[in-house]
Amino acid sequence: MKKNRILAVGSVALDSVKTPFGEVTNALGGSVSYFAASARFFSKVALVGVVGRDFPEKYWDKIRSLGVDTACLERKEGKTFHWRGFYGDDLNHAKTLKTELNVFQSFRPCIPRAYRSDRFVFLANIDPDIQREVLGQMGRPHLTACDTMNYWIAHKRPSLMSLLKKVHVFLCNDGEARELSGERSLLKAAKWVLSRGPSLLVIKKGEHGVLCFSKNFTFLAPAFLLEDVFDPTGAGDSFAGGFVGYLVSCRRFSEKAVRKAIVYGSVLASYNVESFSLDRLSRLKRPEIEKRYRQFREMTRF
Ligand code: AMP
Repeated sequence: MKKNRILAVGSVALDSVKTPFGEVTNALGGSVSYFAASARFFSKVALVGVVGRDFPEKYWDKIRSLGVDTACLERKEGKTFHWRGFYGDDLNHAKTLKTELNVFQSFRPCIPRAYRSDRFVFLANIDPDIQREVLGQMGRPHLTACDTMNYWIAHKRPSLMSLLKKVHVFLCNDGEARELSGERSLLKAAKWVLSRGPSLLVIKKGEHGVLCFSKNFTFLAPAFLLEDVFDPTGAGDSFAGGFVGYLVSCRRFSEKAVRKAIVYGSVLASYNVESFSLDRLSRLKRPEIEKRYRQFREMTRF
């Protein structure tokens, strides 16, 4: 077990994405890749996932060059998870054109013994059966956070509901919160989720910011204001990376720490959307994060 290391499972993907500003084919993506590229600024990250034989060596090197532990990243016969998405003028909503699970279809993670007592676990967006499998192999984590998407709400609802009972923090976007709960009002949706397990719920609303709910407080934050958004892919995952990464670096998960973590998450997401794939996050420097954090504080002070 390593102090402050986050064991994170999720998709490592080849993404083909088109936005009004350009397109990429088979770019490095996946929920846990974005998470790790952003959480690494605050905490150590060990990534759990699987790629196929077609996964380029340079992508593997890129993940390693970010200081991410890849001991639990497997390479298997078959093709890497592939997601094809499209954004029109509304950059808040991705249209999924294709999801090819490929090697993830038969993935049964086996967490090495040295990682099983890790205290912090992040279950990035992937099949909830895989998320549960990972959590089932862990001791008693101090903090477990989990993300998902509409695809799994529609295809694996019972599994997701059983997972919800076991996580401390649940992250989703506004559409997913509504779809999961069947409630139109986000406040009602939040109460619905909080009564089913998690003690903290974070609802992401793209360019409209974030809502954070617990039994004791509610915190609302806008998104960092940007002139240009190039590619929103991974915004939610890089938010989660900044949020969980910062929280884990705090000694106590106090209300103050949660509020600050929400702002760090928003800052990381704002950098991520400035370019395709992990390009901006991998060039990002800590002083740039702190600069935007201070601007954020100034813009929301009253
Ligand atoms: P985000 O924009 O933060 O919601 O996440 C985008 C990332 O999620 C992309 O890099 C995709 O590879 C990945 N992704 C898309 N669909 C799925 C899925 N069904 N399960 C896991 N990861 C996915």
